[in-house]
Amino acid sequence: MIVQEEQMLKSIYELKKRLGEAKHESGSKAGRSIADHLTNVAFTSYLLAQYLYSRNVLDDRHVTLAFYAGLLHDMNKILSRSLRQSSSLEEIKEVLNSLGVSESDLFVQENLQIIQMCVSLHQETGLVGMELLFNREEKFDKKVKILTKVIKFADKFDNFSNADLEKDRRLKESCESVLREIQTLSDGKFDRTTLFHVVLKEYRGMLTELIFEVLNDLLIEKHDLFPIARFPNGLVYLSKGDQREEPLEHLIFELSQRFLDHEGIARAIFQDSVTFESTGVRLSSSAFEMKFNRLIDKLLMISISKKDKFNEKAIFIEGLQRICEELYRNGGSHRDSIKEKFKLLAGFNLGQKSKSQVLQEKYETISRLSPFVNSSESLEDFAKRCVSELTDLYEKRSKRNLKTYLERYLTINLSVCGYNIVEQYTKEFVRSFRRYGPHKYTCSICGTSGEDEVVEAESAETPSLKVQMFTNRGPAHKRMDPKRHVCQYCRLQFLATKAKGLNYSDSQIVFVLLPENYYPDSFLRAMEEQVKKELNGTSNESSQPAMSDVIVSLFKKGKKKEQLKIIFGNMVYIPIPVSGNDLQKWKSLSAMAAISALRIRHRIPVRVLVTKDVQLLQDDIEFDENIWVKDAGVFAKKILLNRGVWRQFGEYLQDTNLRDYLFEFLSQPTDLDVAAVVVKRWEDFKPMAIAPSLFKIFGGDRVEEIRKMAELARRWAFRRSSESKPTEYQYTKPFLDAIKSVRKFDPKTEDEEVLEALIFESVSRSTDSQNEAKEFADAFLSFLKRIGEGNLINGRETLILNYAKYRNLFLGTIKLLVYESTTSKKSKEV
Ligand SMILES: [Zn+2]
Repeated sequence: MIVQEEQMLKSIYELKKRLGEAKHESGSKAGRSIADHLTNVAFTSYLLAQYLYSRNVLDDRHVTLAFYAGLLHDMNKILSRSLRQSSSLEEIKEVLNSLGVSESDLFVQENLQIIQMCVSLHQETGLVGMELLFNREEKFDKKVKILTKVIKFADKFDNFSNADLEKDRRLKESCESVLREIQTLSDGKFDRTTLFHVVLKEYRGMLTELIFEVLNDLLIEKHDLFPIARFPNGLVYLSKGDQREEPLEHLIFELSQRFLDHEGIARAIFQDSVTFESTGVRLSSSAFEMKFNRLIDKLLMISISKKDKFNEKAIFIEGLQRICEELYRNGGSHRDSIKEKFKLLAGFNLGQKSKSQVLQEKYETISRLSPFVNSSESLEDFAKRCVSELTDLYEKRSKRNLKTYLERYLTINLSVCGYNIVEQYTKEFVRSFRRYGPHKYTCSICGTSGEDEVVEAESAETPSLKVQMFTNRGPAHKRMDPKRHVCQYCRLQFLATKAKGLNYSDSQIVFVLLPENYYPDSFLRAMEEQVKKELNGTSNESSQPAMSDVIVSLFKKGKKKEQLKIIFGNMVYIPIPVSGNDLQKWKSLSAMAAISALRIRHRIPVRVLVTKDVQLLQDDIEFDENIWVKDAGVFAKKILLNRGVWRQFGEYLQDTNLRDYLFEFLSQPTDLDVAAVVVKRWEDFKPMAIAPSLFKIFGGDRVEEIRKMAELARRWAFRRSSESKPTEYQYTKPFLDAIKSVRKFDPKTEDEEVLEALIFESVSRSTDSQNEAKEFADAFLSFLKRIGEGNLINGRETLILNYAKYRNLFLGTIKLLVYESTTSKKSKEV
C-alpha cells in the first residue's frame, strides 16, 4: 500500500478545511492551530517511518500508516470529544473518509487497528485498556510498537517552534530519549538518536533560501544526515550519536565554495560580468569573481554579439583594456608587468585612450592603434593568447570578494547544534554599525556600515532593480549622486535573487509563504507538480481548483492558464505579474492580495506575507498575525479584520466575478455605499451568511433610525401579508411612501411642520396603529436630519439625490432582521 504524496497533500487540505482555525486550548501547544500541529506530526512521522523502512525496521505500508496516524493522532481534537469516545475504528474510518482517502487497503481492519493503537498510545498517558490489549494481542508485532513511538516522537518534536533546539534542551533530550526507545525496539538497526540542527540568525530572502539549499545537499551528501524538519530559520536532522562534527570553519569554507559554484549563482555572476552599454564595454565588480578564462569567454561573447554594428576585435581590445586597468589599480608590485603584457597584446599603452565618447569613433581609434585589429589572427586565437599570457597575473591581483564576505557572513550568522564561531554576537553587531551614517559607508538597504563592506551598487548586479530606485540620501527615485551604496551581504543577496530567477519589478506582487509545517522535499515537489499540472490544464480532477489558478485569475483577468513561476524553498515565493490597469491602485491590489492570502492560508498551513519588495530582511518576516500585507490599504485592512467572511466570499466567487465584485466595492465613496451595493447583490452571495456579515462590516446596520423604521415596517408587512412571507415591496412600502411625500414637499412654500404631516399621513397607509405610524414618522424625520447634518431641508435633498442607496440600506436592514430571526429560530430549535 503506497499512497502518493499528492493524495496525502489533499488529505491535509481537507483536514485543514474541516478544522479551520481551531486552536489548542490548553497544554504546551495552547494557542497553536490544531490543523498545523496534526500536519507537522504527519510529516515528521512520515519521514521517520521512511527512514526506518530504508533500514528494514518497518514495512512500506507503515510509512503510509505513519502519515495517517500522525494526521489523526489527536482524534479527540478532530471530533471534540474524549479520547476514549473518539478513537473507535468507526470514527477513524469516518475521518479518513472525510479526508478523501480512497485507498481501500488503508481501510482493512488490521490497518485501522494500527492507526487506533497509534492514536491511543502516542502519549505517556494513553488509554490503559489499549495498553493491555496491545501487550496481550499477538497480532501486533514489534513494528506496530515502533510505529506508536514514531508518532510519539513527532508529537513531542512539534513543541519546537523554531530550529534552535538548544533553546529547550530538556525537550531536545526528551525527544532523543524516544529515539533511543526506537533504537532498542529495533535491536540497534536504527541508530540515529541525536538531533542535529543548523540555524541562520537573520533572514535575507533568496540568500537564505539558497544557503539552506546548498547546505542541505552538503549535509545529506557529505555528512550523512537525515532531514527531519525545516523551519523558516533552520533545518533539523537525525544523526548518529557518535558522529562528531568537523570544525565549523571547515563547514563554512566548503559551504561558501559550493554556494558560489551553485549553477544559479555562477550563471548570475557570468551574466552580469561583462555588459555592453551606450558607453561601450562595462565590467561589473563581480567580473573579477570569476576565473580568468570564464571572464575572457564572456568578453568574447559580448564582442561577437555586437559585430554587426562595430568591429568586434576593437570591442574585445576595449574590454581587455578595462580588465587590465582594474588589475593595474590593485597591481602593487605587479603594475609594470601588467602594463607590459597589455602593450604586448594590444600594441599600445594601457593609459592611452580615445578622447571621443562616440562609440564609432572610439572603436576607430582602437583599430588604428592596435595592430591586432587589422591582422589576420582570429579573435578566438587572440582570446586564447590573452588567457595564457594573463592568467597568472590575474590570479595574483584580482580580489575574490564574494567568497571572503560569504564566509564572514556565515561566520556571523550560522550556528550548528547551538555552536557558532562569533560567540559575541553583540560585539559583531556593534562592529557592523561602527561607521553608520555617512552614505559612503552605510548600506542603503539594510544599514550595515563599515569601510570595506560597503560598495557602490551596480545596476548590472541587481535583478533588474534600477539603482536609482533606492538611496540613503535624498528622495527616492533621485537620479543623481550620491551613488547608492550597498553592503557586500546585500550584494550577495542580489546575486542569489538573480540566481533564483526572481526579479524586481514595479508590476508584480510577491506572495511569500512561510511554512508552519515541515514540508519534506518530496511533498514540496508533489505540491509543485500539482500546481504546475493544474496551471497547464492537465489536471483531470476538478473538485478543487488549484490555488495558483485561483490567484492568477484574480490578478490577471482572462489569463488563467499562464505559467506561473513559483519558487519553492524553505519558503515559497510566488511572484504575480499585475496587469497595467491595476498597477496604480495599490488600494485595490492590496485588497485582492488580502483575499488571496486568506484563501492560501485556508488551503495550505502557511503564514502569508504580501509584498512588492523581493529583497527581504529579517524584519519583513517577523509579523504576529498569520497574514501580513505590507503597506495594506484601508480596504485590505478591513478584509484582514473580518477574515472568515472574506475568505468565504473569496472562496465562493472563484472566477473573475470576484474581481468584478471587489472592484464594485472599492469604487464606492463611503462604507455605507458599499453596504448598499451588498444589498443589491444580496442573493448572489453564498453561503447565506455572507451578505448579512458584509452588510454589517460596512455599517449597514448602524443607522439607528433605519433600524427602527425597518423593525416597524417588518411587523406591518407580516400583519398585512396573507401569505407567510411578505414580498420585498411590502417590506419597503412605508419607507418608499415616506420618500414620495418628501418629494412632494416644496421647501420654498411649505415649512417643516407640513413635511412632518405629509410623512405621517403617508406612513399611516401601512398601519392601523397611530402610535406606530408616529414612531415611524419621527424616526424618518430624525433620519433626514442626520443625513442633512442637522438640517431637514439638506437632508431632503441628500435623500432625493441618493434615493437608491438609502432604499437599499433600508431593504438590507429588513433582510438582516429576517435573517437574524430565522437563524435565532433555528438555533432555538437545536
Ligand atoms: Zn546591506
